Amino acid sequence: ATPTSIMVGTGRAAESGILFKGGEHLEGIHQLNAIVMDKTGTITKGKPEVTDFTGDEEALQLLASAEKGSEHPLAGAIVAYATEKNIDFVEVDEFDSIPGHGIEARLAGKQVLVGNRKLMNDYQIDMEGNEEELVEFETDGKTAMLIAIDGAYRGIVAVADTIKETAPQAIRELKEQGLEVIMLTGDNERTAQAIAKQVGIDQVIAGVLPEEKADKIKEIQDMGKKVAMVGDGVNDAPALVTADIGIAIGTGTEVAIEAADLTILGGELLLIPKAIRISHATIQNIR
Ligand code: ADP
Ligand code: MG
Repeated sequence: ATPTSIMVGTGRAAESGILFKGGEHLEGIHQLNAIVMDKTGTITKGKPEVTDFTGDEEALQLLASAEKGSEHPLAGAIVAYATEKNIDFVEVDEFDSIPGHGIEARLAGKQVLVGNRKLMNDYQIDMEGNEEELVEFETDGKTAMLIAIDGAYRGIVAVADTIKETAPQAIRELKEQGLEVIMLTGDNERTAQAIAKQVGIDQVIAGVLPEEKADKIKEIQDMGKKVAMVGDGVNDAPALVTADIGIAIGTGTEVAIEAADLTILGGELLLIPKAIRISHATIQNIR
């Protein structure tokens, strides 16, 4: 590739909101076989809202107070919900975030756990036969979190995030370009499958711990594929670095943008197939 054609290509891309860190990535994107996408904040808008809460007022007070210490988008949704309900927040004495699982906090003299099945299993909390209700939320594409206070199950808080309007079209275009599209998420299998279905993704890797995301990319590369990773979170940074091409969501974290080879402004997913078209056009001009 001549330096001039690459410069023209990256310039064209930049005008559309595709910011390459270097001309070599414009060429690299031409050779991709697969594209792995994070769920929350990448495929979805990343603005989750509480849709259901099955516990009592005390549980909500303790749960929301505990979540105030978490920076996770799920926590933000819970705090906003409790604020709307005029819940008085109580002071938190101890707080522990357990990546990929949830949180543990101590407040008002009580131990509060909020998180997924893995968290409840680790603390040997009896779900009291509420698995069915949980499955129902998940089948709807909701992220359902379980609450336990002083070791006893106290309810479910379910959160929903909407998909980006252009996500189905972007994914269709990527498939037409011959790419395998895969969703990679820390969320549970059932919720992930429901969201994947809404956007037309048929390959899902769910329940992945933050530190395992990069390993999953390596596994795909070991099958001889050139892989792009698309992500917005701090959790995604190692996977963005590991992938042949790392694509950051412009509305995402600084850490993800730093780790990526290119950034798509406003998190507009249609810019990814567009970047590939610009890459093709650039390469063809060279030949
Ligand atoms: P994602 O890929 O969606 O960013 P994470 O690895 O951050 O996933 O989280 C995985 C799961 O861990 C969440 O779906 C949720 O069940 C649980 N979790 C994470 N953070 C919290 C939190 N602050 N409160 C409750 N549950 C949490
Ligand atoms: Mg994300």
